[in-house]
Amino acid sequence: MQMMSIASGSSGNCIYIGSEETHILIDAGIAAKRIESGLNDIGLKLEDIHALFVTHEHSDHIAGLGVLSRRHGIPVYTARETITELKKMKTLGAVPPEVYHDVQADEEVQVGDLTVHPFAISHDAARPLAYRVSCGEKSVGVVTDLGYYSDYIVENMKGMQAVLLESNHDINMLQTGPYPYYLKRRIMGDHGHLSNESAGRLLCEVLHDQMKYIMLGHLSKENNYDELAYETVRLEITMGDTPYQGSDFPIAVARRDTPSALLTI
Ligand SMILES: [Zn+2]
Ligand SMILES: [Zn+2]
Repeated sequence: MQMMSIASGSSGNCIYIGSEETHILIDAGIAAKRIESGLNDIGLKLEDIHALFVTHEHSDHIAGLGVLSRRHGIPVYTARETITELKKMKTLGAVPPEVYHDVQADEEVQVGDLTVHPFAISHDAARPLAYRVSCGEKSVGVVTDLGYYSDYIVENMKGMQAVLLESNHDINMLQTGPYPYYLKRRIMGDHGHLSNESAGRLLCEVLHDQMKYIMLGHLSKENNYDELAYETVRLEITMGDTPYQGSDFPIAVARRDTPSALLTI
């Protein structure tokens, strides 16, 4: 299995996951041209993509959806409630209704040799989902845009060999930063975004010897920066109640403007 972040951050998200024969995207929150160019870097084209799974209807997750579905005929999988929201959006252009396929939390979908397992997250959207994607014994996850994590989230993330996890903001930068009060409350709230500290603590609950790669993603442009997210998460792992040190796992920060390395597990 392989995974690559094509873009990750408050300005747009698109993650590639694939096996030898099946290729999918999680979210399409950047222009189709940028998605295509990211795929070209690993020898793929948009025509090779079998399905697009959408986490939720915020624009940083769907901006390229119109072109991908209309021009390239890529089927779109997401929650029924999210489809209802997407159909109301004029910015997407005319999307043929038959491209949409609804999925439900805790119900697996098979796409080629990939098994996609959606699970519910808490965020200010109609029916936000995170995804675990498995191929045989291997599995990876994309878990972003969640206000907090519960035992349910932890259970759904156990045993993954690679994960792209939200590490959205530094709490101090957010609190002292320029955002208006209501926005600070929204981001820190139960339906907002995961802080660096929370990401580190969540990782402590799901780390295991077979975890090969951790990618921190969906970083806020204003309230975080790469080194801070990286160091905070590493420290949480080292200080956490686990046998591990932060240095035991390769941790990368997914960039907003350039694709990550292609991870192979
Ligand atoms: Zn969102
Ligand atoms: Zn987002």
